[in-house]
Amino acid sequence: MSPSKKIVNNLIVIPSLFIGIFLACSNEMEDLEIEPISNDYDISPILTKFEGTGLSFEISGEKVIFTTQDLPNHTSPYWPSDNALYSEYNGNNPDYRKNPNTIASQNIVLTIPLYPSEASYHQPTPLGAIGISRNGVVFYNQYAGPDQPLTTEINSFDQWAGHPQMRGEYHYHIEPIYLTTTFGEDAFLGLLSDGFPVYGPVENDHVITNEDLDAYHGHFSVTVDFPEGIYHYHINNEDPYLNGNGFFGTPGSITK
Ligand SMILES: [Zn+2]
Ligand SMILES: [Zn+2]
Repeated sequence: MSPSKKIVNNLIVIPSLFIGIFLACSNEMEDLEIEPISNDYDISPILTKFEGTGLSFEISGEKVIFTTQDLPNHTSPYWPSDNALYSEYNGNNPDYRKNPNTIASQNIVLTIPLYPSEASYHQPTPLGAIGISRNGVVFYNQYAGPDQPLTTEINSFDQWAGHPQMRGEYHYHIEPIYLTTTFGEDAFLGLLSDGFPVYGPVENDHVITNEDLDAYHGHFSVTVDFPEGIYHYHINNEDPYLNGNGFFGTPGSITK
């Protein structure tokens, strides 16, 4: 980060500290212990967990800008057969059927709020990329196309539960098994474009079901990375898997 950017960031931080102190003073102490002072969270502590092929990020003001080639750092039958990561399907779905697509390098830029907060209007997630996993592969929602469930599409997921679409854009709709195998079923897996984190299907040794989650497929609680608590999504094995009725916060922009 350049020195001038640091100054700009500090200028933003200092006024918000004053606002925080002002709000704290205007609240009763017992309220403070129950409710967060503001609706804003700060996701900067988890940015160092992003690491992948052709993946980088930079902080610009109150945004984090990811640039990704969207290339999985794991094996797949969807790699070109001369790629070192090419492998035959070795998952356990007896109905597996490879789709005709091949993984291809992309240039996807995601501009995501660094201090996400709940939106007053919860926008539905679009088709295509809705967020980024920690290895730079994009997340998609629970639909194969407009109002089409994943029912048949699921059979083309590779052994790590991802697959490429027509232009070779590899993506995860459901639990990215490579990431939960590598980092744990309760680990941080990535971000949706509204800046809220995505976690695996387990929390405090409890398997998360849809009953534990709100309409957007998330909830507020403490996580290992956010000891003060944060709103976060969980990806689990029940439809809608990752996101329900839209973004909890305001989505940033995704361009290709
Ligand atoms: Zn898909
Ligand atoms: Zn949770």
